[in-house]
Amino acid sequence: MSHIIHRNLEKSPITAVSGKGCYLKDIDGKLYLDACGGAAVSCLGHGHSEIISAMHKQIDHLAYAHTSFFTTDVVEELAEHLIQTAPSSLNRIYFVSGGSEAMETSLKLARQYFVDIGEEERTVFLGRSQSYHGNTLGALAVGGNEWRKRIFSPLLMNVERVAECNEYRGKKESETVDQYTDRLLKEFEKKVCDIGPHRIIAFCAETVVGATSGAIPPTPGYLRGIYDICRKYGILYIADEVMCGMGRTGTLHAFEQDDFVPDIVAVAKGLGGGYQPIGAVFTKDFIIDAIKKGTGFFQHGHTYICHPTAAAAALAVQKIIFRDNLVDHVKHQGDYLFNQLQHKLSSIETVGNIRGRGLFLGIELVQNKESKQAFDPSKEIHKLIKKECFEKGLMVYPMGGTIDGQTGDHILLAPPFIIKKDEIDFIVDTLDIVIRKVTSTVLLEK
Ligand code: PLP
Repeated sequence: MSHIIHRNLEKSPITAVSGKGCYLKDIDGKLYLDACGGAAVSCLGHGHSEIISAMHKQIDHLAYAHTSFFTTDVVEELAEHLIQTAPSSLNRIYFVSGGSEAMETSLKLARQYFVDIGEEERTVFLGRSQSYHGNTLGALAVGGNEWRKRIFSPLLMNVERVAECNEYRGKKESETVDQYTDRLLKEFEKKVCDIGPHRIIAFCAETVVGATSGAIPPTPGYLRGIYDICRKYGILYIADEVMCGMGRTGTLHAFEQDDFVPDIVAVAKGLGGGYQPIGAVFTKDFIIDAIKKGTGFFQHGHTYICHPTAAAAALAVQKIIFRDNLVDHVKHQGDYLFNQLQHKLSSIETVGNIRGRGLFLGIELVQNKESKQAFDPSKEIHKLIKKECFEKGLMVYPMGGTIDGQTGDHILLAPPFIIKKDEIDFIVDTLDIVIRKVTSTVLLEK
């Protein structure tokens, strides 16, 4: 009997003992192809010897030093690398231990900026429906993932919300994609004006929506349009790239494909690739300059910010991605995975939509392709798919509540950037078998 409060309180998960490349091995020696990088984390796979030796080297020198006394060379070098490879206006960075901390930091940074420029009346965040920004109370409040929030809702700050941008579900048949985008932008500006622009701190969005609805990219021009409206009203734009950032979508930062540079960017998972817990917040000079002139320091901090061992792991991960041109590789392998999924799965009557960018792809399952009607949520299709794939030695990241936090099922794929073609073929072939088997069994039960 384990003492750990596992995710499932009924039973302990299987014990993992080792990992190499795209595979994890369990205690019985069974291998699993990690087609989701856990939760879009393991961008360089498992057991990478260069990353492990960089961590060893750092631990031999210095595992930890508190930031109220010291900085360290390794964290300074990581900052230098990340700023050099980011768009030039993002030139300040803050290191934390994960995605939720990165989002909390982003929210507080944005609020303090306005306090320090004398706009204390800005107290409202604007988020989107069907989004996720983390599980701490601030990040949870900004997210629009209803099932994750339900129990805690009385404790959460009030956040204003606009609709998600979801071409498959949101665009009317009578609309072109551009008309749909225009409609969303008009609704956004109206919402801003209804709230009172002078009350809004920042708009928060995942550039490509992750686990909540399954790798949904924005329509062309949508995020740029939102950013322009934010600028018009002096509202900050916070991009949550915790899941979709650091190369996963085929550019180092996902927003680079959307022709704008957010004021604040939160990253995490792919930053350290799972070798150490680490996240970061990028921001622009004007925000830090205002805080410097105002309060004089950022009123925030955690014990493990700028952790040297975590920084050593992230620096090794990021240098390898840069040296080996892996972001380009993501584009190529992502195209191959997307095309194979289209080729093999799109004819299945329960596959409604395949979407995403780079190696960040989602498959939405439906009961009826024509009407896009979802499966009965009580059937928990996503759980059956996950279980069946796992038994066949394939890790994927399915989730329910795709449409509104209750109904809808999708499968999220986020394999390591080093994935090979034959491994992609295994993912697609296994999904082909499992989706057909699980969905046809459930349809027959009706
Ligand atoms: N933001 C997004 C988009 C995420 O997908 C996640 C985690 O899945 C988080 C924030 C929270 O990150 P963490 O679980 O590291 O706290």
